[in-house]
Amino acid sequence: MRYRLIRSRKRKKTLSLKIDREGEVIIQAPYKTPLKEIDGFFREKIVWVEKKLAEHRAHKAKTNKIRGFEDGEGFFYLGYSYPLLFKDGKGFNGVRLVNGNFIIHRDFRDNAERFFVEWYKKTARELFQERADYYSKTLKLYPSGIKITSGLYRYGSCSGRDSISLSWRLIMAPLQIIDYVIVHELCHIKEKNHSYRFWNLMESIIPDYKERKKWLKDNRHLFIL
Ligand SMILES: [Zn+2]
Repeated sequence: MRYRLIRSRKRKKTLSLKIDREGEVIIQAPYKTPLKEIDGFFREKIVWVEKKLAEHRAHKAKTNKIRGFEDGEGFFYLGYSYPLLFKDGKGFNGVRLVNGNFIIHRDFRDNAERFFVEWYKKTARELFQERADYYSKTLKLYPSGIKITSGLYRYGSCSGRDSISLSWRLIMAPLQIIDYVIVHELCHIKEKNHSYRFWNLMESIIPDYKERKKWLKDNRHLFIL
């Protein structure tokens, strides 16, 4: 991720950071502040910036395509955002997460979106299965199967036949949130409605489920691809 630096002779000491309407990150700095200090300032703000940019994208998504799949653009995985880098070197047909960066070979730039969807799906399938197995044992409730869907905001469901569906997009959220959705669907094996019995069962496994539920509702715009 990059920013545009505007230096000013009038500024005395403070640095400021903002995101303009186009989604460009702008840092305003005094004339003589060393670049190193400005970079450090930027790094401190990076989580906030990612959040704001994601909100900006979500807003834009209503009318436009959401993602540019550009160099340095952040992509979420388990609640953290990692920048995308296009690299030369040995060809690799897909996306890899290496040392905190999503890497795609320069030659496959046009396939970036498909690569991400494939990677997210594959990673989600493995992790969700593992988490569901763990909680199934705890709850003694076993789904007849686990399906991976592409639901945009519908992250999970449980069929009448006790088959659970989970959206791969959920893999972008923190693990506590993924666990909340999985336990939610597992509880539906026993309790089909959102009755007090359902929430009691939920609470016995995830005491802070209300916070997680709210978090997901408030932050779901972050997990749009
Ligand atoms: Zn439910």
